[in-house]
Amino acid sequence: MSADDDTPSEAQVQAAAAEGRPTHALEPHAGGTAGRLNWLRAAVLGANDGIVSVAGIVIGVAGATSSRGPIFTAGLAGLVAGAVSMALGEYVSVSSQRDSQRAERAQEKREIAATPEAELVELTALYEAKGLTAATARTVAAELTARGALAAHLDAELHIDPDDIASPVQAAGASALSFTSGALLPLLAILLPPAPARVPVTFVAVLIALGLAGALSARLGGSDIRRAVLRVVIGGALGLAFTYGIGHLFGTAIG
Ligand SMILES: [Zn+2]
Repeated sequence: MSADDDTPSEAQVQAAAAEGRPTHALEPHAGGTAGRLNWLRAAVLGANDGIVSVAGIVIGVAGATSSRGPIFTAGLAGLVAGAVSMALGEYVSVSSQRDSQRAERAQEKREIAATPEAELVELTALYEAKGLTAATARTVAAELTARGALAAHLDAELHIDPDDIASPVQAAGASALSFTSGALLPLLAILLPPAPARVPVTFVAVLIALGLAGALSARLGGSDIRRAVLRVVIGGALGLAFTYGIGHLFGTAIG
């Protein structure tokens, strides 16, 4: 970035938004904790997706037939399809995020090599914007630049932690795993009980699990837990009743 360039580029803003990074400069540095929390939140969301989509499938099919074979086949297909789709989506999104971080890093490296003076001025301005006096900001910027100009700019300007660049394969595996762990719950709940209890048992198990997942993600996000649980349980109950009704209607009309 040049010295007169005091607004972040569109790519930087997008990368920050995609990662859910804090954009205000005074946020205390808590990279490790924030990273773990984001990871846990993604896992809860993935499990939630697995619960909802496979519960919808097995309850919909159970509305049409009481034989276990089709219910199990449909549920398993839903589990695999969902896990693959989640993994693929995550792979693509993390890959492009990593590419844009690499591009930003390379550009910053070129700028530091080409116009080191302007980059020092820029870094000084960033620390002044954080609330340091001009003199202190100059000292901080100069010392950080002496220790490693690129690392200083990546941190202060682009908020990129070089040790924390996500792996697309790892992210894909994690989201497939969390989806699968959620999907197993409705699959087991519909298969294990005797036929008459299947649908009620699955309803209750799914609503409890959704409530727990909702409470956990509300807690992680610092929002109102009771409201989040209520929302997700009512939404889940309506969704399941709807899919059961559709399955029952079409299953008996067509089958
Ligand atoms: Zn810079």
